[in-house]
Amino acid sequence: MAPETSGPGPAPFPAGSVTRFAPSPTGLLHLGHAHSALFARRAGTRCLLRIEDIDATRCRPEYTEALVEDLAWLGLRFDGPLRLQSGHLPDYRRVLDALEARGLLYPCFCTRGDIAAAIAAQHGPSSRLYPGTCRGLPRAEAEARIAAGAPYALRLDVTRALAETGPLAFTDLIHGPRSCAPEAQGDVVLARKDVPVSYHLCVTHDDALQGVTLVTRGEDLLEATDIQRLLQALMGWPEPLYAHHPLILGPDGRRLAKRDHAPTLRALREAGRTPEEVRAMAFPGLAP
Ligand code: GLU
Repeated sequence: MAPETSGPGPAPFPAGSVTRFAPSPTGLLHLGHAHSALFARRAGTRCLLRIEDIDATRCRPEYTEALVEDLAWLGLRFDGPLRLQSGHLPDYRRVLDALEARGLLYPCFCTRGDIAAAIAAQHGPSSRLYPGTCRGLPRAEAEARIAAGAPYALRLDVTRALAETGPLAFTDLIHGPRSCAPEAQGDVVLARKDVPVSYHLCVTHDDALQGVTLVTRGEDLLEATDIQRLLQALMGWPEPLYAHHPLILGPDGRRLAKRDHAPTLRALREAGRTPEEVRAMAFPGLAP
């Protein structure tokens, strides 16, 4: 059955889609976030709000409070309960344990300096990828280092994972059919030394758990999908559709980012802008 158009942009968005807006509370929301949130809301029949606050080194509860308030001020309503990822660490741990039991993860003791030195020492074409230093570490040695209290990350053995899943692809309603090349990102970290579980793992776990059928987000995350499809295939989770939307650009033609002091929703509100005006700035052409 041909999908019905129910959302923004040129692509048809299937009617009945479950979408989500999943900000990380590392700062105040700006117009780029508002664009993403409006996009998700317009594309989804149901649209969930999920707070991706796993990284306690960067996320702050006051930003969670502020973003919930700013989204309400903007006039956005979400479906279902708000999910805070930080409240579900044992669930993510279970996924790590399952992958570890299948021999798909390995502990990595490298520091940033070790990795930079190993990359610099490599011959051949220069690469910024993790060179796999700890992949071949004998199990007994890894266990002894862990027992001695050495900090470590857990990396996914991508070659081994792909041997289990075979080639992967996904359908992006804006970019068309895409084949995945997760190996181009090396053995990604699924648990950091200082953060118990990675963004990729939490996102795929939650999208499956929450029944998300259409993942909408900025096109800066297109490559993340290659890793996330791999995790979905390994865990037997359903494959959603994707729509990676173009990022909105600032007056200088560069993408809006917190570090560039993009105007926050709060600043616009304090400057007297109405929610309607801010919605129009974030999503030109969007009907009221
Ligand atoms: N939490 C991510 C971010 O704020 C977005 C995750 C996603 O939409 O998949 O960049």
